[in-house]
Amino acid sequence: MPFLTFVLRWLERLFSLKTLRRKFVIGFIIASVVAVGNIVVIHSLLRQSDTIAATINIAGKMRMLSQRIGLMHVAERNLPPSEDWNTHTLYEQLETNFQAAITALKGGGKAFDLAIPAIATTSQQHLEKIEVSWDAYRQTLAAMKPNRSPLEANAGSVAHDQAATLAIIATSTVLLEDIEALINSLIQQSDNMQASVKNQVYGLFIANVLMLLLAWAIIVCKVLNPIKQVMQLGNELAAGNYDARLHMNSSDEFGSLSRVLNKSAAHIENLLRDLKVKQNTLKKARAGLRRAVLVYQHISDGVVITDADGFIQDINPAFSTITGYTAAEVVGHRMNKLSSGRHSKEFFRSFWERLSTTGQWHGDIWNKHKSGEEFISHLMINSCFNDDGTVDCRIGLFSNVTEQRTQEALIWRQAHFDHLTQLPNRLMFHENLHASIEQSKRSGFPFALMFLDLDLFKEVNDTFGHDEGDALLKQVAQRISDCCRRSDQVARLGGDEFVMIIQDLKSHDDIHPICEKILGSVSKPYSLAVSDIRISCSMGVAFYPDDADNATDLLKYVDFAMYAAKERGRNQYCLFSRTLRDSVQLRHDLLRDFQAGLDTQQFILHYQPIIDLQTGNIIKAEALIRWQHPTLGLIPPGDFIPLAEDSGLIIPLGDSIFQQAAKQAALWRDNMEHWAGVSINVSPAQFQQSGLDPETWIQTLQNLDLPNSAITLEITERLLLESDEDIYEKIRTLRRAGFQIALDDFGTGYSSLSYLRRVDIDIIKIDQSFVRNLAESPENMVLCNAIINMSHELGLKVVAEGIETPEQHDLLLAAGCDFGQGYLYSRPVAADQFSEWLEAYSQPS
Ligand code: C2E
Ligand code: MG
Ligand code: MG
Repeated sequence: MPFLTFVLRWLERLFSLKTLRRKFVIGFIIASVVAVGNIVVIHSLLRQSDTIAATINIAGKMRMLSQRIGLMHVAERNLPPSEDWNTHTLYEQLETNFQAAITALKGGGKAFDLAIPAIATTSQQHLEKIEVSWDAYRQTLAAMKPNRSPLEANAGSVAHDQAATLAIIATSTVLLEDIEALINSLIQQSDNMQASVKNQVYGLFIANVLMLLLAWAIIVCKVLNPIKQVMQLGNELAAGNYDARLHMNSSDEFGSLSRVLNKSAAHIENLLRDLKVKQNTLKKARAGLRRAVLVYQHISDGVVITDADGFIQDINPAFSTITGYTAAEVVGHRMNKLSSGRHSKEFFRSFWERLSTTGQWHGDIWNKHKSGEEFISHLMINSCFNDDGTVDCRIGLFSNVTEQRTQEALIWRQAHFDHLTQLPNRLMFHENLHASIEQSKRSGFPFALMFLDLDLFKEVNDTFGHDEGDALLKQVAQRISDCCRRSDQVARLGGDEFVMIIQDLKSHDDIHPICEKILGSVSKPYSLAVSDIRISCSMGVAFYPDDADNATDLLKYVDFAMYAAKERGRNQYCLFSRTLRDSVQLRHDLLRDFQAGLDTQQFILHYQPIIDLQTGNIIKAEALIRWQHPTLGLIPPGDFIPLAEDSGLIIPLGDSIFQQAAKQAALWRDNMEHWAGVSINVSPAQFQQSGLDPETWIQTLQNLDLPNSAITLEITERLLLESDEDIYEKIRTLRRAGFQIALDDFGTGYSSLSYLRRVDIDIIKIDQSFVRNLAESPENMVLCNAIINMSHELGLKVVAEGIETPEQHDLLLAAGCDFGQGYLYSRPVAADQFSEWLEAYSQPS
């Protein structure tokens, strides 16, 4: 079979038999050629057979002719001459015929009306013999004189005749034998030829059988097998197996048919798959529809279907439950049957406009129950459209949300308004601020943001209790609101912090009267349950968009401005400015460099002497910190201590100061006769949780072999306002250990002696603001006297700070003040310089 396939391929290539039609045409041509070949071969065989037969025929006729000629001669001699019997002519004709036969046999030609080719060379010898025996026969005949009459016959002639007859018989016998030999030879040839013809016919038959087999094989391969495969595919497809495929790669009609059938099968397979998917979808859709009907019937939301003009076509049971109307009462009517009359024409105009442009509407709408009770329904409307785009129907889904909305409104109010003052709270304020920014962008008018913080409100809380504090806050809120227009917004951020958005300012200057008004109003006395009190406030102001173009910066800047107002002495307002921002920037830079400063010991202590006013002896030095900044130079503590306190870095800084000061105190301990040690400032922030550890400090002094009494800790009134008992416990621990406690800057805070009960104090330091104008201000003198006397009464020593002039020195000395500190004696100086100064001071003059 592979050979056959190879042959077929080869034939296909040779004749480019691409199509079945071509193959059949070529097959037909070959079959025709084979048929013609068969005819030609048979025809040629028949011709050979005819030729042999004709040759044998001629040879046979020659034999008869030779006998006839002999007989004629014998007859001529024995019969009387006759007019009708022209033997001579006949004899001549017979001889001629015989001779012609010899000639034809010898070289081919016509004899006895039979055309023959020359006989085969093997028979030529017989012919040559025939020629010889013919010549002898003819001569024998010629030698015989025919008897004209019986009368002429005599005895002598009878003998002669007998001899002649015998001669004739002899020569004719020879001739006959030769002719017989020729005939036998020819018959032999004929037999040979017949055998050859038989073989050729067999060969032809075999060739034809082979050709038929070849043709059958081709038909099987190229027609029957493909038909069988096509039928198999047909059966598979009929059985529903559409993924069956034909694998015929031929380029003939079956190849094309196979591709077409494969394509069709694939197409049907896809169609079936699609059909299956669609059937599934349809099944799901049906199930969905069934569910939808169930939902429609049982949903707790009301469903109403109207036509394009708003006439009700159908409702679900929940509709009746919510509205009180049955289907019979509303179908065919418009929805305005439920109208509460609360909504304006404008509301319905925009309602229909939205519905007709988008096909949808959703929102809350007031409706009226059949009983007349009004309720809020949350309504969602969707439209169904026809193919031509017109509205087929509209479906409304609604629920009674009255309770929910009331609840939401309450929650919203609680979330957005301060429960104490009823002012907007921080959240609401932020929303309002963003809205104001948007409005300002649209209107082009700037607005001012004000940040108000009550001064020392904590003291009110601590002194009078939180209820009184709350009552105060309520009144403050009312007063601030009264100072603002209705269009302005006042909010409470929390605690004692309020913010105001003052809208549509024509100029920045317009803010001043408002600020003055608020300051004046807030600072008027308040009548509380316990007592009447006064309080002031500090305010910061920033403008949008000139100071900041976003809410975050605006809030930051207004905060800076408020703190600037506090720093400037409170009970005032401060407008944000570039300078303020620069100082904030500086603060930011310092904070960035702070840790590096700590790591590289950029913080150094300067020391200022404290003098015994009575004796003039230096008894102590106050350690005052400075920051030796690599680029900004020497920075005073006022510029970075608040920063350190805010950032928490005061804790490591405070510890470092303590270590430095203690070491220095140990160095100076033995140098001075009346030396009582070093005074160290301690920030309130250092006493907070995780701040300074009294035990560590005590241990430090022990390590230096320095008595704890050599260190005075300067705390401020601010610390005594704290309500944290742990703070006081730390101070008490240190004092119990022997540390001296001094109350610094006395007179600047509340100066309430009640605080002094909280911790035991050793020294009071009168703030330099009282000393500064001591000579000029009798009030200050009175105050100083009072503080000194009161302190002495309590058994406390008094240090007066900021003594710059001898008059101040004398006045304080006269008032009985124990110690003095100020530029009059020395400015704060570095430790080395202070050491030199000490030495010089201690030399007897
Ligand atoms: P303070 O503890 O009241 O320190 C006295 C301040 O008054 C010092 O300012 C000092 O230089 C200044 N002073 C002294 N005599 C005079 C005078 O005759 N006239 C005037 N005008 N001023 C005088 P300084 O060094 O700038 O310190 C300011 C404040 O910084 C200190 O006030 C203290 O509260 C704080 N401080 C200083 N060093 C430290 C420290 O190491 N730790 C802490 N927590 N705070 C410190
Ligand atoms: Mg001090
Ligand atoms: Mg002071």
